[in-house]
Amino acid sequence: MAKNITLDSYREIAPRGTVELIYHLARRLKGKSMLHVNSTRFGGGVAEMLHRLIPFFNDLEIDTRWEVMEGTPLFYQTTKCFHNALQGDSQVITPEMFNEYKKVNHKNARRISFDSDIAIIHDPQPAGFIYKKPKKAKWLWRCHIDASRPQRKVWNFLKEYVSGYDGAIFSLPNFAQKIDIPQFLMYPSIDPLSDKNRELTPQEVETLISPYNIPKDKPMILQVSRFDRFKDPVGVIEAYKIVKKYNDCSLVLAGGSATDDPEGAAVLNEVLAYASKDPDIIILNLPPDANLVINALQRAATVVLQKSVKEGFGLTVAEAMWKGKPVIGGAVGGIAVQIIYGVTGFTVNSIEGCAYRIRYLLNNPEVLLDMGQKAKEYTRRNFLITRHLCDYLGLMVHMLNDNQL
Ligand code: UDP
Repeated sequence: MAKNITLDSYREIAPRGTVELIYHLARRLKGKSMLHVNSTRFGGGVAEMLHRLIPFFNDLEIDTRWEVMEGTPLFYQTTKCFHNALQGDSQVITPEMFNEYKKVNHKNARRISFDSDIAIIHDPQPAGFIYKKPKKAKWLWRCHIDASRPQRKVWNFLKEYVSGYDGAIFSLPNFAQKIDIPQFLMYPSIDPLSDKNRELTPQEVETLISPYNIPKDKPMILQVSRFDRFKDPVGVIEAYKIVKKYNDCSLVLAGGSATDDPEGAAVLNEVLAYASKDPDIIILNLPPDANLVINALQRAATVVLQKSVKEGFGLTVAEAMWKGKPVIGGAVGGIAVQIIYGVTGFTVNSIEGCAYRIRYLLNNPEVLLDMGQKAKEYTRRNFLITRHLCDYLGLMVHMLNDNQL
């Protein structure tokens, strides 16, 4: 955790009573140990959250480790196909790919110590570690993607592993699956005191974004996302092109890549080609630690988009809402939970609908401001890290419910 930031720093930010509840639950877990495993330390929402959550668990005297599995190019290609297939895309996965998944899981399992009271195994990549579960430990599989309509072949393969867990955690109720283990609901969260989200002065915002030549004389439309087809960056440009006929504005598409996502470069090239030579479209390929820049972009934006066509949760929505921005997002996955239509933003189902709502907000600045304030309040109540800590601690108390608790 950053210096000087303690749990008590959140008392003024989180809903009243949340910090007390965290201390109360943590007292019942003192001395327990916890392990998180995922497949990338940088890029994407899971890594973003683990960086913030893990120091808190340790501060609360729950001995918590984070292990990252190491893959091969074929493994990452396979798990990206799994990801796409679980989100409903049709994918061809060869026997060689299924074998690579098993091989890499076994190889990593030999390296990682699984000695821990409870383990949270994130997403499909490390799900195959389940055979290493110590007898007394509790293991939960946390699924961060929209697996509501998975391609059967892939889900049946993964189900063999998942059904060995003590429970599964999903980000939305309708992602739950027909499996014979307990299933839990847990929304992701943002940290209001991280570099990604902390308050910035207007001068800081200006300095942070000045290298990127974003026009200052017109409103800025922004989408922050990995370059991934499910985030529909091309659809965002099409919506912008419609808006641009009527309202002068700029479009910033800020993205980066994740080490476990092999498709990012190809999608970035598609986006660059599609943007052609419009000087008001700015495409930024940012390094993984560009948290302050993203924070500044979200604050400088007039309207924020997350026009995904599939989405697990969409942390970028909560990030923008926390900065008082109404968000226009695809009516999918967790976006539909974060955006209350017409109150904290708009969910949309088409490029034209997206353009219409951008124009509506640009043309109604008082509505824009009002929605932004409601978006911030809604985020405070539902999507902050303090709520997430309560959820995890409550679940741990439930799972590790031995007689001393
Ligand atoms: N992000 C980032 N740099 C980028 C693109 C995204 O730091 O270039 C961050 C973004 O701010 C958010 C997370 O990565 O915190 C993305 O999480 P989200 O749930 O929106 O999408 P995911 O990438 O996990 O599908």
